[in-house]
Amino acid sequence: MRPIIPDYMTEALEKVRPDTSGERAGYIPELATADPERLGAAFAMLDGKVYGAGDIDTEFTIQSISKPFAYALALTDRGFDSVLAKVGVEPSGEAFNEISLESTTGRPLNPMINAGAITVHSLAGAQDLDPAGRVERVLHGLSAFAGRRLRIDESVYASEIEHAHRNLAIAHMLRSHDILTGDAKTVVDGYTRQCSVLVTTRDLAMMAATLANRGVNPLSGEQVVPETVVRQVLSVMFSCGMYDAAGDWATQVGIPAKSGVAGGLIGALPGQIGIATFSPRLDPHGNSVRGVSLFERFSSDMGLHVMEVPAAALAVVRSNHVVGSGPNALRVLELQGGIGFAGAERVVKEAVDNEPSEVRVALDLTRVSSVDDVARRMLLEVARRLTLGGHDVFLVDPESVVPDPEPGDGGRVTVVDTVDQAANPTRSGSAR
Ligand code: GLN
Repeated sequence: MRPIIPDYMTEALEKVRPDTSGERAGYIPELATADPERLGAAFAMLDGKVYGAGDIDTEFTIQSISKPFAYALALTDRGFDSVLAKVGVEPSGEAFNEISLESTTGRPLNPMINAGAITVHSLAGAQDLDPAGRVERVLHGLSAFAGRRLRIDESVYASEIEHAHRNLAIAHMLRSHDILTGDAKTVVDGYTRQCSVLVTTRDLAMMAATLANRGVNPLSGEQVVPETVVRQVLSVMFSCGMYDAAGDWATQVGIPAKSGVAGGLIGALPGQIGIATFSPRLDPHGNSVRGVSLFERFSSDMGLHVMEVPAAALAVVRSNHVVGSGPNALRVLELQGGIGFAGAERVVKEAVDNEPSEVRVALDLTRVSSVDDVARRMLLEVARRLTLGGHDVFLVDPESVVPDPEPGDGGRVTVVDTVDQAANPTRSGSAR
């Protein structure tokens, strides 16, 4: 059978290829010489599988796509409070290189615009690092997101730093508000090196997949940053990642995303996929023209909008029936699928509102694929209340989707592998 996904991606690339509108980033001379016809797209799945079409192994500089990752490193290294004291999380609705700060505090509005990202660079790594050490901390961190050692393109760095007047102006302004405490020029130098890290479309998809995978790189298995940091980063990408086009993007594409002026674009869909595209011509916001079209296409073809409403959790209770009869009768609540708050609420309603008349009650989790933290606590509370009501409670959990079930004060559950073991505890072997 021909591979379905790469065929689809190739077709999508051919649909956008004729669009030659937009311009390469002219303000960084080295980027203005990039081959404008380059075009690639990659999907990284959370098991590490990468699907690609077009130029997915061509290297280009990461530019602003480094910003969410550097933000993740700063949050991890310095903690939320110290980073939030210096950089806000409000969409600016302005261009990426706007010289603007919050009027009352002098803070940059968010970490995705240059003012925020320059500040964030100064917050990566320990406070006492020297400038080279800070650049190495960022390079090491970006590499961990990608799952391979990345390097800096010295000629793009040199080309940008020579013309970095605007970023220097921003940094001096930040210094005057004491948002930056070190030397303004040194921070811009480090930030420019951060933007000059070379990546491929494949790398970018893997970096996005690491965000989509709660901070765990799908290739190396490394927890690169904590889950709480990932949630913060994805939220800011969603509201601010596309600068003054963020609102259009949030409604039409609906995937937390970040663009870079070398033509890269990433999107991270939590729990599903990391996507990256590459095409150097940019629209007036500095976002890749063909990249934006590809993302619009991917989102609508594959139903990837984060606000797409998932199937209701009503079907979590697959059946409610009795096995056997007489005093040994067993009430079985057979559950299914992935259980979160709304799913667990169905179980609570079923078990507590209409308390079973049978003494023995089993929650059958055989067909349950996952139970999140709040659902786990709710299911165990159901078990506890049933015990307090005089029931013998069984958890049929052959795959241990609820590991170490401990229902708390006065609760007791017997974990078994099959409903049969719960129905005939003496006949078919012992409980686990
Ligand atoms: N290095 C670029 C700059 O600071 C990054 C901008 C971008 O990719 N949007 O101008």
